[in-house]
Amino acid sequence: MTTPSFSFAPVQLPPNAMRLREEVRQFLAAQEAAGTFAPGPAGWARVDPDFSRRLGARGWIGMTWPKRYGGHERSALERYVVTEELLVAGAPMRGHWAADRQLGPLLLEFGTEEQKQRFLPEIAAGRCMVAIGLSEPDSGSDLAAIRTKAVKAAGGWRVDGRKIWISLAHRSQLMSLFVRTSPKSEDRHAGVSRFLVDMAAKGITIRPIVNMTGEHDFNEVVFDDLFVPDNMVVGEVGGAWQQISKDLAYERSAPDRWLQSHDLLLRTIERIGRAPDRAQSEVLGRLVAHLWTLQSMSLSIAGMLENGQNPSVEASIVKDLGTHYDQEIPQWARTLVPEHMRALMPLEDGFEQSLRYNLLFSPAVTIKGGTTEILRNTIARALGLR
Ligand SMILES: Cc1cc2nc3c(=O)[nH]c(=O)nc-3n(C[C@H](O)[C@H](O)[C@H](O)COP(=O)(O)OP(=O)(O)OC[C@H]3O[C@@H](n4cnc5c(N)ncnc54)[C@H](O)[C@@H]3O)c2cc1C
Repeated sequence: MTTPSFSFAPVQLPPNAMRLREEVRQFLAAQEAAGTFAPGPAGWARVDPDFSRRLGARGWIGMTWPKRYGGHERSALERYVVTEELLVAGAPMRGHWAADRQLGPLLLEFGTEEQKQRFLPEIAAGRCMVAIGLSEPDSGSDLAAIRTKAVKAAGGWRVDGRKIWISLAHRSQLMSLFVRTSPKSEDRHAGVSRFLVDMAAKGITIRPIVNMTGEHDFNEVVFDDLFVPDNMVVGEVGGAWQQISKDLAYERSAPDRWLQSHDLLLRTIERIGRAPDRAQSEVLGRLVAHLWTLQSMSLSIAGMLENGQNPSVEASIVKDLGTHYDQEIPQWARTLVPEHMRALMPLEDGFEQSLRYNLLFSPAVTIKGGTTEILRNTIARALGLR
């Protein structure tokens, strides 16, 4: 029998993380009372640059990074607690999220000293929004097939090509761009590089794509003779593939992968009230049990990050289970609070808004950050089944 090459060791939050949880709750309650944000569907998806800067000032972005780069040298478990509280409160965290979660840790590991000094303090202060430019029209799951190409020029690179589904490219100052710097060879993973792109540079056209909820969130981005200076290459030219599995592990490992419909779960419980019938109790009990399990698994991943491990398989498992849990909530909410209980509700009712948003958005959660099939391929390989 094959021994599984993953595990989820239980993690207990230390007292300093518990104290921090209280501090974050108090901060969020005060912000909500001051009208900075209102809880609602997809709070996590909202961008509020002022709020990001306020979090930066509290020291809650780039929390685990060295102080010399604007970080705070706190633990991965403390960072976990802050993220979880922001998500549960529906706070607008999107403005700094991709930079905090993905680009910052990658720059710490692969960036030059100049890149670290220039970008990490800005990110930690909540002043630098980052788009992630991986997917292309014919290569989303198969990133080795990218065709956006960079050709060497004096002092830098000239980029031509097209990326698609790029979240918040229209609001970001910086893009972490994955390009081909030499033609495909036998080793499909060789010859790809990561550039940092100033989104105000000449040669970038951003075309909005409106998603099913009616929001402009992602984009098609076209590069036409864009110049990227040499000092904006992250890591070795042609060697960016080694960054990809880390990039995806950071993207898949956070609790945002299973707390996206949390607002709807809370509103469903509130709507059902204190005397649920047997069927409602069974379903809510099952969903809450899943929630606790996912939290324990996610905490375990935070513990692995704290110990310097690379939990990419564990992150794939949590993302797969978490996104299916997130998709179940709107389906159950519709069944548990049936039509006749909703018929007289005004459109601006919180439950109705949350249900409508989550029903329309939930198909996306099993695609973004890696589709179900791709995650299960990763898990199957770790189990020795492929
Ligand atoms: C809301 C949202 C936000 C996004 N934001 C970003 C972003 O900011 N930056 C970015 O770069 N991308 C972003 N994406 C794109 C996302 O990463 C891709 O859509 C995803 O990786 C799938 O790629 P694809 O759309 O090309 O589908 P494909 O790769 O063409 O897949 C199509 C279908 O085939 C299946 N499939 C493909 N290969 C295999 C295989 N080897 N084995 C089994 N089945 C397979 C897939 O599971 C899927 O069901 C976003 C997507 C969404 C929905």
